[in-house]
Amino acid sequence: MAKIKIDLSGKVAKPQVVVGIDLGTTNSLVAWVNPSTGNAEVIADELGALVPSVIGLMPGGSAQVGVLAKGGLVTAPERTIFSVKRLLGRSYKDIADFQRYLGYRIIDEDNESMVKIEVDGKYYNPIELSAIILKALKEKAERALNVEVVQAVVTVPAYFNDAQRQATRDAGKLAGLEILRIVNEPTAASLSYGLGLNREEVETVLVYDLGGGTFDVSILQIEDGVFDVLATKGDTALGGDDIDRSVMSMWQQAYPALNQVVLAGDIQRLRLVAEAAKIALSGNPTETFTHDFALGDGLSVLLSLDYTGLQAAAKELLLKTENCIAAALRDASLKPSQIQAVVMVGGSTRYPQVKALLEEKFPHVAVNNTLNPDEVVALGAAIEADVLAGNRKDILLLDVTPLSLGIETAGGLMDVLIPRNNKIPCRVGREYTTSVDGQVNLKISVFQGERELVAQNRKLGEFILKDIPAMPAGFPKIEVAFALDADGLLKVSAKELRSGVTQQIDIKPQYGLTDEQVEAMLMAGFQHAQEDVTARLHQEAINEGHQLVYLAKRFIEKNANLLNEDEMEGTKQRISALECLLAERGEKDAILQAVTALNDYTRPFAERLMDVAVSAALKGKEI
Ligand code: ADP
Ligand code: MG
Repeated sequence: MAKIKIDLSGKVAKPQVVVGIDLGTTNSLVAWVNPSTGNAEVIADELGALVPSVIGLMPGGSAQVGVLAKGGLVTAPERTIFSVKRLLGRSYKDIADFQRYLGYRIIDEDNESMVKIEVDGKYYNPIELSAIILKALKEKAERALNVEVVQAVVTVPAYFNDAQRQATRDAGKLAGLEILRIVNEPTAASLSYGLGLNREEVETVLVYDLGGGTFDVSILQIEDGVFDVLATKGDTALGGDDIDRSVMSMWQQAYPALNQVVLAGDIQRLRLVAEAAKIALSGNPTETFTHDFALGDGLSVLLSLDYTGLQAAAKELLLKTENCIAAALRDASLKPSQIQAVVMVGGSTRYPQVKALLEEKFPHVAVNNTLNPDEVVALGAAIEADVLAGNRKDILLLDVTPLSLGIETAGGLMDVLIPRNNKIPCRVGREYTTSVDGQVNLKISVFQGERELVAQNRKLGEFILKDIPAMPAGFPKIEVAFALDADGLLKVSAKELRSGVTQQIDIKPQYGLTDEQVEAMLMAGFQHAQEDVTARLHQEAINEGHQLVYLAKRFIEKNANLLNEDEMEGTKQRISALECLLAERGEKDAILQAVTALNDYTRPFAERLMDVAVSAALKGKEI
């Protein structure tokens, strides 16, 4: 299979580097391999290397990112976006649990489409928001190194699903970056310690990542330069913050005077002191931390904590992470003695008890903790970027697919199943469903290329999955699977999982394509990346609008008796307002506003229907 390197050097005046980006929940970083030293380095400017993953959406429509935006968390929570990574590629349903922790408005449409955030009547989805952060990182690197940055490797957690990975790629495109590869964070962390660079050895590595608000442990098997995730376990609500909280409650018990602080709502200030105590004692376990905490009216209380106290506060957290390690080992069917290396990642691993725990569990290996735990993921991404840029001759690149492969979905969108640069052989499956009641046939059209609309990609073939049993829209579960073998032969199959109906075709994607044509397709995808993603987001809004019109019409047809005349009229008006916008392919934000308006208006009717259904069910019981 041809290995394609795009050469954009004719287009730009400045030299280019390929960077590695750690797009984090709390903090993000960008790193590169310095050609003069050959070492991976994080890229810093006058504000340092860490970029807080915080976005301030300003009234004029501009955005601030990082340290500059952080103050807004307190002063303007409704326009200060944090933890975007928790929203990426998720639906409203997925995030219901932690929505209450966020100060900004997430539109709750209680459905399965991507979440949206509203600020000043403008709608942002997590892809656009992540793109703002990526763009800031790109520009930071460009300023610091005085180069052009176009290509990047971006890391994601090992547990990220397909949709979350695709969302990360889209964010890169919107930011004007070509994402050469999405790499798992534990893989990047391992690379930063040089694990997996020796292709002769098979290595089993455990990566322990304890951050501020999330924990995950992954077990990787590295063989022949391939990093396989054998198991990954974690908790998205576990981290160093838990230690801070338990220090606070220890103090609140020990110093009753503090409880008036709680009433005064100044809990944030106390939390920061607790965190400072934790960090001070982590660096200096033999000292006692003290802090004169002001209570107002000239009163204060002298808080103190020693290392024994800190250990007590952190005990439960460590125990929970220990359970995750055990569960991951179980999943991977491995004994602790089979782990050959341990890597520590995340700011909270600076707490000495973490290393002690890992050394006790894995006494036979050295724990890798010499690098800065905040930086290891970005450094590893930079090494991967350097490899993909062709700068390292000691590492062989695996065979990869030169162009993305996917199928057409509603509105002529390209849904990529196997992204370009994916290693082969590989197999990917994804579930789809129908959008119309009683649909019995489904056309699967297979395309190749980097554009967001299939019309601009290359069609490889199509087939029809026939005889799907008639079911309501959204009911059938159709798994489309792409299997690309080492010879570049693609098998596409579709199976309706409820009935077992199956259909399949074989395709040779590279057949009849010269290297020049592949390169031209890559260039086209790259040159149109931003307008393409914008077009895609527009089309997705249109699809969402059509779906809602369909559901709303069906609802009023079936449940006319639930609505009075005014309500019926109001619903119809909102439906036709939305239909008009859809017919003229109106602006994205206008469509989304009409969608929200119709949703908000009809929600009480849907609730009424539920009440009727419940009382009918209760009546049924009486008989
Ligand atoms: P995230 O992965 O959530 O972005 P980080 O990896 O940046 O988080 O880690 C942040 C956490 O690390 C915070 O809870 C912070 O208090 C903690 N932390 C930072 N330095 C230390 C230290 N020296 N000792 C203990 N905890 C620390
Ligand atoms: Mg982290």
